[in-house]
Amino acid sequence: MKPPMGEDNGWWWQQAAEGHLAIQRCGSCGTLRHPPRPMCGDCHSLAWDHVVSSGRGTLDSYTILHHPQFPGFDYPLIIILVQLEEGTRFTSQLVNCSPEDVEFGMPVEMVMHEDPDGFRLPMFQPAQGASA
Ligand code: ZN
Repeated sequence: MKPPMGEDNGWWWQQAAEGHLAIQRCGSCGTLRHPPRPMCGDCHSLAWDHVVSSGRGTLDSYTILHHPQFPGFDYPLIIILVQLEEGTRFTSQLVNCSPEDVEFGMPVEMVMHEDPDGFRLPMFQPAQGASA
């Protein structure tokens, strides 16, 4: 299952393929936004560039998904909303963590997941060195 890639987000997947968690930034007011879209929601500018996230953040919210089950994923899936230290939020998947260990506010860090075919997708895991 691959996400759709188009004009608005193809660059983002290219960044992921290079191992970067990219965040789109408005070229006029500097507001960060994700997922990628053509227009700034704050100032309606069409100008943008991007920053590369450190990949560090805290878990803002999460949902544990038992269904539906797609082949190639381990269930249950822990779908998380990460508050990145750059100041924007990112929806992702928490890996290397069992559902009973998930906590609101826990520090997480980006880990680049790679499919056997080389497709890369940023995911998150509990921050290493965090107090357990
Ligand atoms: Zn703007």
